[in-house]
Amino acid sequence: MKPPPFDYATPRSVDEVTELLREAPDESSLLAGGQSLMPLLNMRMAQPRVIVDLNRAKGLDAIEQTPEGRVRVGAMVRQRRIETDRELRDRLPLLTEAARHIAHIPIRMRGTVGGSLAHADPAAELPATVCALGGRMVVRGPDGERTIPAEEFFLGALTSAIDPGELLVAVEIDTPPNGTGWSFREVARTHGAFALAGAAALVHSGEDGAIDLMRLALLGVGSVPYVPDWIAETAVGEGPEESLFRRIGERVRDELAPFDDVHATADYRRRVAGVLTARALAEAAGRGNGRVKR
Ligand SMILES: Cc1cc2nc3c(=O)[nH]c(=O)nc-3n(C[C@H](O)[C@H](O)[C@H](O)COP(=O)(O)OP(=O)(O)OC[C@H]3O[C@@H](n4cnc5c(N)ncnc54)[C@H](O)[C@@H]3O)c2cc1C
Repeated sequence: MKPPPFDYATPRSVDEVTELLREAPDESSLLAGGQSLMPLLNMRMAQPRVIVDLNRAKGLDAIEQTPEGRVRVGAMVRQRRIETDRELRDRLPLLTEAARHIAHIPIRMRGTVGGSLAHADPAAELPATVCALGGRMVVRGPDGERTIPAEEFFLGALTSAIDPGELLVAVEIDTPPNGTGWSFREVARTHGAFALAGAAALVHSGEDGAIDLMRLALLGVGSVPYVPDWIAETAVGEGPEESLFRRIGERVRDELAPFDDVHATADYRRRVAGVLTARALAEAAGRGNGRVKR
């Protein structure tokens, strides 16, 4: 299979990228790692007139700290780097762990953080994980930069809040408080396959032993990451107990409305998601500063 013909541009800066996008906002596609775009082109599911290659544009591949102390991961940072960067692993181990579940190493060597987020695949690991971490997407367009909270960024399957003419330049994430436990759990048919369902969780307890932070996001169970808005209300002030995590898992299972497809039924996905939720919360609490009651 071969892609349809297209013009190919290799801008050297983000300004050049936005300039090129301005010329044909609806007819351009950005090329990052190409791990999703190339199959789409080959299958003729995308037929852009111009491909704007981000691989030579400077300033998109840094992992740095913002003046506010957030971790800023450039859109062109490869998924493999997320997995192997030691400093990042110390600050955001949940992100590191999630990256390990993406496909296989050769794909992660090319695939980028920005490409995965912008592609907005409902079964992808990074979108849900960045939602669990409360990340913010930094998007640049002809009118400058804007920031979109992760939970508002994913609008539907393969649809994000990036407008034509814009690109994702980075994602910014606050480091969770010291002592925050984390967990990423997923079920896939084979190692490296897209998840049937998955859960990313953070849990922190205060000095009195009660939970004071819980965040959760699920993948593979709808067209966008599922982020229960009742989680803090339900968990904060409670002791980190297995029974609480099971209750939350059951509520998640009952609330979800996933889809049937060739890989799994909706009911299977709901049940797996409920179990993964309880297990991820228990594992996160066990890794954190609280004493988990069994
Ligand atoms: C066999 C196989 C298995 C895979 N398994 C998994 C898996 O288990 N989990 C998973 O999460 N992914 C999986 N993937 C997808 C992989 O993670 C891709 O790397 C990812 O989806 C896209 O990243 P990319 O850098 O390759 O982006 P590209 O393919 O280059 O681009 C993807 C889309 O995002 C747009 N885009 C890219 N960068 C930007 C930007 N900075 N701003 C705005 N738009 C942008 C492109 O225009 C395109 O529409 C798999 C891929 C393959 C080939």
